[in-house]
Amino acid sequence: MNPSSGSNGHPGASSNGGSSSSRPSISAPKQGSGSFSFIFAWELHERLLWFSNLRWFAVVGLAAVSLIGPAVGMAATRPSLMVVAALVAVYNLLFVYALKFRFGPEEDYGDLRTVAILQMVTDLAALLVTVHFTGGCASPVLPFVVFHMAIGTIMIETRIMFVLAFATCFAAAGLFACEHFDVLNRHASVIGGQSTPASCGLSTVMLVGLVFGVVYLTDSVTSRFKTRNVELHQTTTELRRSLEEREELERRKSHYMRISAHQLRSPLGTIKTSLQVLLDGYLDPGSEEGLRLLGGTATRVDSLLDIVNDLLELAKMREGRVKAPWARNVSINQILADIFDAADPSAREANVELVPHFIHEGAAVLDWAVPPDLVYAFENVIQNAIKYSKPEGGTVTVALGIDRTHAMIVVADEGIGIPANLQDDVFMEFVRAPNAKHAEAEGTGLGLSIVREAVQMHGGKVSLESAEGIETKVTMVLPLHYVPPEIGRA
Ligand code: ATP
Ligand code: MG
Repeated sequence: MNPSSGSNGHPGASSNGGSSSSRPSISAPKQGSGSFSFIFAWELHERLLWFSNLRWFAVVGLAAVSLIGPAVGMAATRPSLMVVAALVAVYNLLFVYALKFRFGPEEDYGDLRTVAILQMVTDLAALLVTVHFTGGCASPVLPFVVFHMAIGTIMIETRIMFVLAFATCFAAAGLFACEHFDVLNRHASVIGGQSTPASCGLSTVMLVGLVFGVVYLTDSVTSRFKTRNVELHQTTTELRRSLEEREELERRKSHYMRISAHQLRSPLGTIKTSLQVLLDGYLDPGSEEGLRLLGGTATRVDSLLDIVNDLLELAKMREGRVKAPWARNVSINQILADIFDAADPSAREANVELVPHFIHEGAAVLDWAVPPDLVYAFENVIQNAIKYSKPEGGTVTVALGIDRTHAMIVVADEGIGIPANLQDDVFMEFVRAPNAKHAEAEGTGLGLSIVREAVQMHGGKVSLESAEGIETKVTMVLPLHYVPPEIGRA
């Protein structure tokens, strides 16, 4: 089978609209779990790297606090915060390595989001340890928790941030309780920053309020940008797709024009030469030879007319879809019966027996169809089967069957067949196999391309199977309930 349903290739998912080399890919918004929600993968990657750079300041800050802490009353900071600084430096190195060498900007959004969550969790853990060594609920470091929440809400989904906010508050309250009940050592804060159970309780309540409040507020401010981001991406994708479609159309048009001009040029050239011979007086138009020349010229003009008519038909189908005369409830049985009547004389002349295999009248009815285009398509395939039957004749079978959703028309002959290497190409304009040219001089090679256009216009597919010198079988499958886009839109 050589399905010839046309070019439904997806527009380049790999195409890259960005010009900056730091933005090699845009991860499309995908549906479902663990997927893109509002930010492009390369953006998240950029932000994670920026966040990692910022973390080096935290490392320096922790080391500095560790050194000067005892001088301002926080005796426990040396060497404990130095250890925390070292740990933060180590995991930051790991994150930078992962972002630069393992999870690049073209990575799936889901994987980068996992890195972002890991960063948040490790940072919040390091922060709480720092809070513990700098005075617990009276620690001056406590506000940094809120800062983290704001950054996290910009980078990852709000629902995840609410979970992290809850976990952070729970861990902080647990830490303060452990310190209060002496499960953990209590460390001094900056001079004058002593905590009482009441002030500690108040700090905890304030922390919970601030943490959740910041996540909520940051989300309300950024949600519009997040939505715009997604909309912008969708619009860009659609624009890119339609641009590619236009380019493809233009390419096909110019290809088509070049071939058309080429096909028309050679018979025109011959006609001109013949007329010139007569005009220059080399032959008397009334003589036997002159009349033969004029007869040949008239035959060429006929074949030129055939080409022009076929080209017009093809152009009409390609461009005139908007104005196509769509009709309701079109019976394929009826169309085929009419074609059979019309094809009978040419079949008899070619010594071909036309055998119908129809299902009962009225069953194969298309919801929507353009009857003249269907007639043209079926006629072309049946005429081919007759035309390319062997000189001694044979049988051409036209079968029509349906299932719940589709009608299938199969035209089979016992003719000259198509060489294997041309079985895909014969659907292209002006392609004729050498054995067909030899058997039948007349023919433009436009018939099957018109058939394909017509079938596709009805939402269907056409394919063929052939064995050279033995047989050819052309199958057209048409959906019964196809609604053309122009009708669907109306
Ligand atoms: P026309 O434009 O007059 O229809 P054509 O019949 O040569 O000319 P198409 O109908 O497009 O052109 O067919 C293209 C080519 O496909 C034919 O030239 C022939 O080589 C091959 N072909 C199509 N149908 C058959 C068939 N039933 N048996 C053998 N070859 C076929
Ligand atoms: Mg044909």
